[in-house]
Amino acid sequence: MRCPLCPVLVALTLLCNVLLLYYTWHLHSRPAGRHNPSPTLSPGITVIVREFYTFEHGLAELNRSFLRSRPSMRLLIASDTLPYPPVQGVNILRLHPSPEQPGSTFRLETHIQTRLVALVPDGTALDPPDLLDRMARALRDAPSGVRIIAAGAGTVLQSFHLNVSLRDWTAAYSPAGTADLCGAVSGPAVILMRSRDLLELPFPLSRPVQTAIFIQTALRGWGVKVLEDVTFPRTALPATDHGRWKAEQAERAAEAATMRTLGVRLVRGLDGGDRWYGCSKETPRCFGTVVGETPDYLYEGRWTPPCCLRALRTTALHVIKVLEVSNVRYWLEGGSLLGAARHGDIIPWDYDVDLGIYLEDINLCPELRGAQGGSLVDAEGFVWERAVEGDFFRVQYSQSNHLHVDLWPFYPRDGVMTRDSWTGHPQDIEFPESFLQPLQILPFAGASVQAPNRHVELLKLKFGERAIEEPQYPNPALLRIKGR
Ligand code: ZN
Ligand code: MG
Repeated sequence: MRCPLCPVLVALTLLCNVLLLYYTWHLHSRPAGRHNPSPTLSPGITVIVREFYTFEHGLAELNRSFLRSRPSMRLLIASDTLPYPPVQGVNILRLHPSPEQPGSTFRLETHIQTRLVALVPDGTALDPPDLLDRMARALRDAPSGVRIIAAGAGTVLQSFHLNVSLRDWTAAYSPAGTADLCGAVSGPAVILMRSRDLLELPFPLSRPVQTAIFIQTALRGWGVKVLEDVTFPRTALPATDHGRWKAEQAERAAEAATMRTLGVRLVRGLDGGDRWYGCSKETPRCFGTVVGETPDYLYEGRWTPPCCLRALRTTALHVIKVLEVSNVRYWLEGGSLLGAARHGDIIPWDYDVDLGIYLEDINLCPELRGAQGGSLVDAEGFVWERAVEGDFFRVQYSQSNHLHVDLWPFYPRDGVMTRDSWTGHPQDIEFPESFLQPLQILPFAGASVQAPNRHVELLKLKFGERAIEEPQYPNPALLRIKGR
Protein backbone atom coordinates (compact mmCIF):
# COMPACT_ATOMS: atom_id res chain seq x y z
CA MET A 1 0.00 0.00 0.00
CA ARG A 2 1.23 3.47 -0.75
CA CYS A 3 1.99 5.64 2.30
CA PRO A 4 0.40 9.09 1.93
CA LEU A 5 3.01 10.63 4.28
CA CYS A 6 6.05 9.44 2.30
CA PRO A 7 6.39 12.39 -0.15
CA VAL A 8 6.00 14.81 2.79
CA LEU A 9 8.71 13.01 4.79
CA VAL A 10 11.06 13.02 1.82
CA ALA A 11 10.45 16.73 1.28
CA LEU A 12 11.03 17.47 4.98
CA THR A 13 14.27 15.48 5.04
CA LEU A 14 15.52 17.33 1.97
CA LEU A 15 14.62 20.68 3.51
CA CYS A 16 16.44 19.78 6.74
CA ASN A 17 19.56 18.85 4.78
CA VAL A 18 19.51 22.08 2.84
CA LEU A 19 19.10 24.08 6.05
CA LEU A 20 21.96 22.17 7.72
CA LEU A 21 24.20 22.77 4.71
CA TYR A 22 23.40 26.47 4.73
CA TYR A 23 24.08 26.73 8.46
CA THR A 24 27.44 24.95 8.15
CA TRP A 25 28.44 27.17 5.24
CA HIS A 26 27.40 30.23 7.21
CA LEU A 27 29.51 29.20 10.22
CA HIS A 28 32.59 28.70 8.10
CA SER A 29 32.22 31.80 5.99
CA ARG A 30 32.11 34.11 9.01
CA PRO A 31 35.40 35.83 9.83
CA ALA A 32 37.24 33.90 12.56
CA GLY A 33 37.20 36.70 15.11
CA ARG A 34 34.20 38.93 14.68
CA HIS A 35 35.86 41.64 16.69
CA ASN A 36 39.22 41.32 15.05
CA PRO A 37 39.36 44.37 12.83
CA SER A 38 42.73 43.64 11.21
CA PRO A 39 41.52 42.87 7.68
CA THR A 40 39.86 46.26 7.41
CA LEU A 41 42.46 48.40 9.14
CA SER A 42 43.56 51.40 7.11
CA PRO A 43 46.82 53.33 7.20
CA GLY A 44 46.90 56.12 9.72
CA ILE A 45 47.00 56.55 13.46
CA THR A 46 44.18 56.57 15.98
CA VAL A 47 45.09 58.75 18.94
CA ILE A 48 43.71 57.64 22.29
CA VAL A 49 43.73 59.81 25.37
CA ARG A 50 43.20 57.70 28.44
CA GLU A 51 45.39 59.46 30.99
CA PHE A 52 43.47 62.53 32.18
CA TYR A 53 41.53 63.66 35.21
CA THR A 54 37.89 64.64 34.75
CA PHE A 55 38.16 67.35 37.41
CA GLU A 56 40.99 69.25 35.72
CA HIS A 57 41.95 68.52 32.13
CA GLY A 58 43.05 70.04 28.85
CA LEU A 59 41.11 67.73 26.51
CA ALA A 60 39.66 70.51 24.32
CA GLU A 61 43.12 72.06 23.75
CA LEU A 62 44.67 68.67 23.07
CA ASN A 63 41.93 67.86 20.57
CA ARG A 64 42.45 71.22 18.81
CA SER A 65 46.22 70.84 18.69
CA PHE A 66 46.14 67.35 17.16
CA LEU A 67 43.32 68.08 14.68
CA ARG A 68 44.89 71.38 13.57
CA SER A 69 47.97 69.43 12.51
CA ARG A 70 46.08 66.42 11.14
CA PRO A 71 42.42 67.26 10.35
CA SER A 72 41.63 63.69 9.25
CA MET A 73 43.01 62.13 12.41
CA ARG A 74 40.70 60.15 14.68
CA LEU A 75 41.12 61.15 18.29
CA LEU A 76 39.36 59.23 21.04
CA ILE A 77 38.97 60.22 24.64
CA ALA A 78 38.69 56.95 26.54
CA SER A 79 36.92 57.40 29.81
CA ASP A 80 35.22 55.17 32.37
CA THR A 81 32.34 57.63 32.58
CA LEU A 82 31.33 60.68 30.54
CA PRO A 83 33.55 63.64 31.47
CA TYR A 84 31.65 66.13 33.59
CA PRO A 85 31.14 68.92 32.76
CA PRO A 86 30.83 67.66 29.14
CA VAL A 87 33.60 68.49 26.67
CA GLN A 88 32.38 69.74 23.28
CA GLY A 89 33.74 68.52 19.96
CA VAL A 90 35.61 65.41 21.15
CA ASN A 91 34.92 61.71 20.53
CA ILE A 92 34.29 59.94 23.79
CA LEU A 93 34.84 56.22 24.11
CA ARG A 94 32.97 55.21 27.22
CA LEU A 95 34.55 52.16 28.79
CA HIS A 96 32.02 51.47 31.49
CA PRO A 97 29.00 49.80 29.86
CA SER A 98 25.51 51.17 30.13
CA PRO A 99 22.73 48.57 30.17
CA GLU A 100 20.67 49.92 27.27
CA GLN A 101 23.55 50.19 24.77
CA PRO A 102 25.04 47.45 22.59
CA GLY A 103 28.10 45.82 24.13
CA SER A 104 30.22 46.66 21.08
CA THR A 105 29.91 50.37 21.90
CA PHE A 106 32.17 49.89 24.89
CA ARG A 107 34.79 47.74 23.21
CA LEU A 108 37.96 49.37 22.01
CA GLU A 109 38.16 47.30 18.78
CA THR A 110 34.89 48.80 17.58
CA HIS A 111 36.52 52.22 17.53
CA ILE A 112 39.90 51.50 15.97
CA GLN A 113 40.03 51.45 12.18
CA THR A 114 43.69 52.28 11.68
CA ARG A 115 46.75 50.06 11.73
CA LEU A 116 48.54 52.18 14.30
CA VAL A 117 47.46 53.59 17.58
CA ALA A 118 49.06 56.25 19.79
CA LEU A 119 48.39 56.65 23.49
CA VAL A 120 48.82 60.25 24.50
CA PRO A 121 48.69 61.76 28.00
CA ASP A 122 46.57 64.82 28.68
CA GLY A 123 48.30 68.19 28.20
CA THR A 124 50.26 67.01 25.15
CA ALA A 125 50.42 69.03 21.90
CA LEU A 126 51.27 67.80 18.39
CA ASP A 127 53.96 70.28 17.44
CA PRO A 128 55.64 70.04 14.99
CA PRO A 129 52.92 68.10 13.15
CA ASP A 130 55.22 65.28 11.97
CA LEU A 131 56.09 63.88 15.43
CA LEU A 132 53.70 60.95 15.16
CA ASP A 133 54.90 60.20 11.62
CA ARG A 134 58.47 60.02 12.87
CA MET A 135 57.35 57.53 15.49
CA ALA A 136 55.48 55.50 12.87
CA ARG A 137 58.61 55.37 10.69
CA ALA A 138 60.67 54.29 13.69
CA LEU A 139 58.24 51.43 14.36
CA ARG A 140 58.34 50.38 10.70
CA ASP A 141 62.15 50.36 10.69
CA ALA A 142 62.62 48.86 14.16
CA PRO A 143 64.09 45.38 14.63
CA SER A 144 61.49 42.65 15.03
CA GLY A 145 61.70 42.50 18.84
CA VAL A 146 60.53 46.13 19.14
CA ARG A 147 56.75 46.52 19.19
CA ILE A 148 56.43 49.87 20.95
CA ILE A 149 57.90 53.28 20.20
CA ALA A 150 57.95 55.73 23.09
CA ALA A 151 58.68 59.46 23.10
CA GLY A 152 58.75 61.85 26.04
CA ALA A 153 55.83 64.20 26.60
CA GLY A 154 57.28 67.33 28.15
CA THR A 155 60.10 65.32 29.71
CA VAL A 156 63.07 63.07 29.05
CA LEU A 157 62.12 59.44 29.57
CA GLN A 158 64.00 56.95 31.70
CA SER A 159 64.39 53.48 30.18
CA PHE A 160 64.09 50.30 32.21
CA HIS A 161 64.32 46.58 31.78
CA LEU A 162 61.19 45.03 33.17
CA ASN A 163 61.04 41.47 34.43
CA VAL A 164 57.54 40.28 35.32
CA SER A 165 57.13 36.99 37.15
CA LEU A 166 53.50 36.04 37.60
CA ARG A 167 54.66 33.01 39.56
CA ASP A 168 56.19 35.38 42.12
CA TRP A 169 53.51 38.08 41.67
CA THR A 170 56.36 40.52 41.06
CA ALA A 171 57.38 43.16 38.51
CA ALA A 172 61.05 44.14 38.80
CA TYR A 173 62.44 47.23 37.08
CA SER A 174 66.15 47.77 36.50
CA PRO A 175 67.80 50.68 34.64
CA ALA A 176 68.37 49.93 30.95
CA GLY A 177 71.70 50.95 29.47
CA THR A 178 70.17 51.71 26.08
CA ALA A 179 67.08 53.48 24.79
CA ASP A 180 67.05 51.31 21.66
CA LEU A 181 65.66 48.22 23.33
CA CYS A 182 64.12 48.29 26.78
CA GLY A 183 60.98 46.98 28.45
CA ALA A 184 59.43 50.08 29.99
CA VAL A 185 59.81 53.82 30.41
CA SER A 186 59.06 56.09 33.31
CA GLY A 187 57.74 59.63 32.86
CA PRO A 188 54.84 60.96 30.75
CA ALA A 189 55.19 59.40 27.30
CA VAL A 190 53.48 59.12 23.94
CA ILE A 191 53.35 55.43 23.07
CA LEU A 192 52.88 54.22 19.52
CA MET A 193 52.17 50.62 18.58
CA ARG A 194 50.27 48.49 16.08
CA SER A 195 46.54 48.40 16.78
CA ARG A 196 46.47 44.61 16.65
CA ASP A 197 49.17 44.49 19.33
CA LEU A 198 47.24 46.83 21.60
CA LEU A 199 44.06 44.81 21.04
CA GLU A 200 45.87 41.60 21.88
CA LEU A 201 46.41 42.89 25.42
CA PRO A 202 43.64 41.80 27.77
CA PHE A 203 43.79 45.14 29.60
CA PRO A 204 44.65 47.70 26.89
CA LEU A 205 43.32 50.73 28.75
CA SER A 206 43.78 49.95 32.43
CA ARG A 207 45.21 52.84 34.37
CA PRO A 208 47.88 53.99 34.84
CA VAL A 209 48.16 53.21 31.13
CA GLN A 210 51.94 53.00 30.83
CA THR A 211 52.43 50.81 33.89
CA ALA A 212 49.64 48.45 32.84
CA ILE A 213 50.76 48.21 29.21
CA PHE A 214 54.43 47.61 29.98
CA ILE A 215 53.63 44.81 32.43
CA GLN A 216 51.53 43.08 29.76
CA THR A 217 54.04 43.65 26.95
CA ALA A 218 56.96 42.53 29.15
CA LEU A 219 55.12 39.25 29.70
CA ARG A 220 55.00 38.82 25.92
CA GLY A 221 58.64 39.76 25.47
CA TRP A 222 57.80 42.85 23.39
CA GLY A 223 60.55 45.45 23.30
CA VAL A 224 60.25 49.22 23.64
CA LYS A 225 62.39 51.71 21.73
CA VAL A 226 62.67 55.25 23.04
CA LEU A 227 63.07 58.03 20.47
CA GLU A 228 65.44 60.32 22.31
CA ASP A 229 65.29 63.00 19.63
CA VAL A 230 61.48 63.28 19.74
CA THR A 231 59.79 65.17 22.58
CA PHE A 232 56.19 66.30 22.49
CA PRO A 233 55.45 69.66 24.11
CA ARG A 234 53.29 69.15 27.17
CA THR A 235 51.68 71.24 29.86
CA ALA A 236 51.68 69.22 33.07
CA LEU A 237 48.12 68.67 34.27
CA PRO A 238 46.50 69.13 36.72
CA ALA A 239 48.18 72.50 37.17
CA THR A 240 46.86 73.40 40.62
CA ASP A 241 48.16 72.01 43.92
CA HIS A 242 44.75 70.73 44.90
CA GLY A 243 44.23 69.13 41.48
CA ARG A 244 47.64 67.45 41.71
CA TRP A 245 46.81 66.09 45.14
CA LYS A 246 43.51 64.70 43.90
CA ALA A 247 45.23 63.25 40.85
CA GLU A 248 47.85 61.51 42.99
CA GLN A 249 45.15 59.93 45.17
CA ALA A 250 43.22 58.78 42.10
CA GLU A 251 46.36 57.42 40.44
CA ARG A 252 47.37 55.48 43.53
CA ALA A 253 43.91 53.91 43.81
CA ALA A 254 43.84 53.05 40.09
CA GLU A 255 47.33 51.60 40.25
CA ALA A 256 46.46 49.37 43.22
CA ALA A 257 43.32 48.09 41.48
CA THR A 258 45.19 47.46 38.22
CA MET A 259 48.08 45.65 39.91
CA ARG A 260 45.66 43.34 41.65
CA THR A 261 43.88 42.70 38.35
CA LEU A 262 47.17 41.92 36.65
CA GLY A 263 48.23 39.65 39.52
CA VAL A 264 51.16 41.81 40.60
CA ARG A 265 51.57 42.28 44.35
CA LEU A 266 55.07 43.77 44.43
CA VAL A 267 56.78 46.28 42.14
CA ARG A 268 60.52 46.63 42.66
CA GLY A 269 63.03 49.18 41.46
CA LEU A 270 60.74 51.99 40.37
CA ASP A 271 61.35 55.30 42.20
CA GLY A 272 64.07 53.55 44.16
CA GLY A 273 61.89 51.40 46.40
CA ASP A 274 59.41 48.55 46.70
CA ARG A 275 55.72 49.15 46.20
CA TRP A 276 53.32 46.63 47.71
CA TYR A 277 49.81 45.93 46.43
CA GLY A 278 49.02 42.84 48.49
CA CYS A 279 47.60 42.01 51.86
CA SER A 280 48.49 43.80 55.08
CA LYS A 281 47.61 43.69 58.77
CA GLU A 282 44.40 45.56 57.99
CA THR A 283 43.18 43.29 55.15
CA PRO A 284 42.42 39.58 54.78
CA ARG A 285 45.24 37.42 53.42
CA CYS A 286 45.44 36.89 49.65
CA PHE A 287 43.97 33.38 49.56
CA GLY A 288 41.01 31.60 51.11
CA THR A 289 40.67 28.42 53.12
CA VAL A 290 43.24 25.86 51.97
CA VAL A 291 41.73 22.57 50.84
CA GLY A 292 43.87 19.43 50.69
CA GLU A 293 47.02 21.37 51.69
CA THR A 294 46.99 22.91 48.22
CA PRO A 295 46.24 26.65 48.16
CA ASP A 296 44.29 27.97 45.15
CA TYR A 297 47.22 29.89 43.65
CA LEU A 298 49.22 26.67 43.13
CA TYR A 299 46.64 25.47 40.60
CA GLU A 300 47.32 28.67 38.61
CA GLY A 301 51.05 28.06 38.50
CA ARG A 302 51.74 30.67 41.12
CA TRP A 303 53.56 30.52 44.40
CA THR A 304 52.74 32.24 47.68
CA PRO A 305 52.27 36.01 47.13
CA PRO A 306 55.24 38.02 48.43
CA CYS A 307 53.01 40.00 50.80
CA CYS A 308 51.84 36.74 52.39
CA LEU A 309 55.41 35.43 52.70
CA ARG A 310 56.39 38.73 54.28
CA ALA A 311 53.51 38.48 56.79
CA LEU A 312 54.46 34.87 57.57
CA ARG A 313 58.08 35.85 58.24
CA THR A 314 57.00 38.75 60.44
CA THR A 315 54.63 36.51 62.43
CA ALA A 316 57.22 33.73 62.76
CA LEU A 317 59.92 36.09 64.05
CA HIS A 318 57.46 37.69 66.47
CA VAL A 319 56.38 34.30 67.85
CA ILE A 320 59.99 33.11 68.14
CA LYS A 321 60.94 36.27 70.03
CA VAL A 322 58.06 35.75 72.50
CA LEU A 323 58.95 32.06 72.98
CA GLU A 324 62.62 32.86 73.55
CA VAL A 325 61.82 35.60 76.07
CA SER A 326 59.58 33.08 77.92
CA ASN A 327 62.20 30.29 77.76
CA VAL A 328 59.81 27.99 75.90
CA ARG A 329 61.81 25.31 74.08
CA TYR A 330 60.77 25.39 70.42
CA TRP A 331 62.09 24.11 67.09
CA LEU A 332 61.33 24.38 63.40
CA GLU A 333 58.87 21.65 62.42
CA GLY A 334 57.58 20.11 59.19
CA GLY A 335 57.72 22.24 56.05
CA SER A 336 59.43 25.08 57.89
CA LEU A 337 62.37 22.84 58.85
CA LEU A 338 62.46 21.62 55.26
CA GLY A 339 62.57 25.23 53.98
CA ALA A 340 65.35 26.07 56.45
CA ALA A 341 67.37 23.08 55.24
CA ARG A 342 66.86 23.97 51.57
CA HIS A 343 67.43 27.69 51.54
CA GLY A 344 67.11 29.17 55.02
CA ASP A 345 63.59 30.47 54.47
CA ILE A 346 59.93 29.58 54.14
CA ILE A 347 59.32 27.29 51.13
CA PRO A 348 58.18 29.71 48.40
CA TRP A 349 54.79 27.97 47.99
CA ASP A 350 54.17 27.25 51.69
CA TYR A 351 51.27 29.01 53.38
CA ASP A 352 52.07 28.70 57.08
CA VAL A 353 54.98 28.23 59.51
CA ASP A 354 55.22 25.25 61.85
CA LEU A 355 57.06 25.18 65.18
CA GLY A 356 57.25 22.38 67.71
CA ILE A 357 57.22 23.24 71.43
CA TYR A 358 57.56 21.30 74.68
CA LEU A 359 54.06 20.82 76.13
CA GLU A 360 55.39 21.32 79.68
CA ASP A 361 56.76 24.78 78.74
CA ILE A 362 53.38 26.26 77.75
CA ASN A 363 52.79 27.77 81.19
CA LEU A 364 56.06 29.72 80.96
CA CYS A 365 54.55 31.93 78.26
CA PRO A 366 51.80 34.43 79.16
CA GLU A 367 50.56 34.55 75.56
CA LEU A 368 50.14 30.76 75.40
CA ARG A 369 48.53 30.75 78.85
CA GLY A 370 46.10 33.40 77.60
CA ALA A 371 45.39 31.39 74.48
CA GLN A 372 44.55 28.27 76.53
CA GLY A 373 41.15 29.61 77.45
CA GLY A 374 40.26 31.22 74.13
CA SER A 375 42.12 33.89 72.26
CA LEU A 376 44.41 36.77 73.06
CA VAL A 377 45.41 39.78 70.98
CA ASP A 378 48.89 40.90 71.99
CA ALA A 379 50.24 44.46 72.09
CA GLU A 380 51.40 44.22 68.45
CA GLY A 381 48.07 42.94 67.16
CA PHE A 382 49.00 39.26 66.72
CA VAL A 383 46.22 36.86 67.70
CA TRP A 384 47.14 33.87 69.91
CA GLU A 385 44.57 31.12 70.14
CA ARG A 386 43.97 27.45 70.69
CA ALA A 387 43.31 26.00 67.27
CA VAL A 388 39.79 24.81 66.68
CA GLU A 389 41.12 22.16 64.28
CA GLY A 390 43.04 20.19 66.93
CA ASP A 391 45.38 20.09 69.86
CA PHE A 392 47.74 22.91 68.95
CA PHE A 393 48.16 26.68 69.12
CA ARG A 394 47.87 29.14 66.29
CA VAL A 395 49.24 32.70 66.10
CA GLN A 396 47.66 34.86 63.40
CA TYR A 397 49.24 37.91 61.80
CA SER A 398 46.22 40.00 62.86
CA GLN A 399 42.49 39.80 63.47
CA SER A 400 41.87 40.53 59.77
CA ASN A 401 44.80 38.66 58.24
CA HIS A 402 44.83 34.98 59.17
CA LEU A 403 48.31 34.06 57.89
CA HIS A 404 49.65 32.07 60.80
CA VAL A 405 52.27 30.13 62.69
CA ASP A 406 51.17 26.80 64.17
CA LEU A 407 52.71 25.65 67.46
CA TRP A 408 52.62 21.88 67.96
CA PRO A 409 53.05 20.79 71.61
CA PHE A 410 55.10 17.55 71.98
CA TYR A 411 56.05 15.70 75.14
CA PRO A 412 58.79 13.09 75.69
CA ARG A 413 57.80 9.50 76.48
CA ASP A 414 60.56 6.91 76.82
CA GLY A 415 62.94 9.07 74.81
CA VAL A 416 60.44 9.70 71.99
CA MET A 417 58.71 13.03 71.25
CA THR A 418 55.00 12.36 70.89
CA ARG A 419 51.58 14.02 70.90
CA ASP A 420 48.11 12.88 71.88
CA SER A 421 46.59 13.70 68.49
CA TRP A 422 48.03 13.86 64.98
CA THR A 423 47.12 15.68 61.80
CA GLY A 424 47.41 12.60 59.63
CA HIS A 425 50.06 14.25 57.43
CA PRO A 426 52.79 11.71 56.61
CA GLN A 427 55.51 13.95 58.09
CA ASP A 428 53.61 14.40 61.36
CA ILE A 429 55.19 11.56 63.33
CA GLU A 430 56.96 10.72 66.58
CA PHE A 431 60.72 11.15 66.64
CA PRO A 432 63.56 10.49 69.10
CA GLU A 433 64.06 13.28 71.65
CA SER A 434 67.79 13.08 70.95
CA PHE A 435 67.16 15.32 67.90
CA LEU A 436 66.30 18.10 70.38
CA GLN A 437 69.27 17.47 72.73
CA PRO A 438 70.74 19.88 72.07
CA LEU A 439 68.85 22.17 69.72
CA GLN A 440 70.94 23.86 67.04
CA ILE A 441 70.66 27.26 65.38
CA LEU A 442 69.69 27.53 61.69
CA PRO A 443 69.13 30.62 59.54
CA PHE A 444 65.42 31.01 58.76
CA ALA A 445 63.34 33.93 57.43
CA GLY A 446 66.20 36.38 58.00
CA ALA A 447 66.95 35.35 61.59
CA SER A 448 68.78 32.68 63.61
CA VAL A 449 66.25 30.16 64.79
CA GLN A 450 66.28 27.00 66.91
CA ALA A 451 66.03 23.67 65.11
CA PRO A 452 66.62 19.98 65.79
CA ASN A 453 70.22 18.78 65.55
CA ARG A 454 71.00 16.36 62.67
CA HIS A 455 68.08 18.04 60.94
CA VAL A 456 68.84 16.44 57.57
CA GLU A 457 68.46 13.01 59.16
CA LEU A 458 65.19 14.04 60.83
CA LEU A 459 63.86 15.41 57.54
CA LYS A 460 64.64 12.13 55.79
CA LEU A 461 62.73 10.34 58.54
CA LYS A 462 59.72 12.67 58.11
CA PHE A 463 59.62 13.38 54.37
CA GLY A 464 61.65 10.59 52.77
CA GLU A 465 65.16 10.14 51.45
CA ARG A 466 65.37 12.85 48.74
CA ALA A 467 62.89 15.45 50.04
CA ILE A 468 65.53 18.18 50.43
CA GLU A 469 66.97 17.86 46.92
CA GLU A 470 63.69 17.16 45.13
CA PRO A 471 61.09 19.75 46.12
CA GLN A 472 57.47 18.72 45.82
CA TYR A 473 54.16 20.45 46.50
CA PRO A 474 52.53 19.67 49.86
CA ASN A 475 50.00 17.20 48.46
CA PRO A 476 51.41 15.54 45.32
CA ALA A 477 48.30 13.38 45.04
CA LEU A 478 46.40 16.58 44.15
CA LEU A 479 49.10 18.62 42.42
CA ARG A 480 52.70 17.86 41.55
CA ILE A 481 55.57 20.11 40.52
CA LYS A 482 55.86 19.74 36.75
CA GLY A 483 58.45 17.20 35.67
CA ARG A 484 58.40 15.37 39.00
ZN1 ZN B 1 49.19 38.50 50.65
MG1 MG C 1 53.06 23.98 57.15
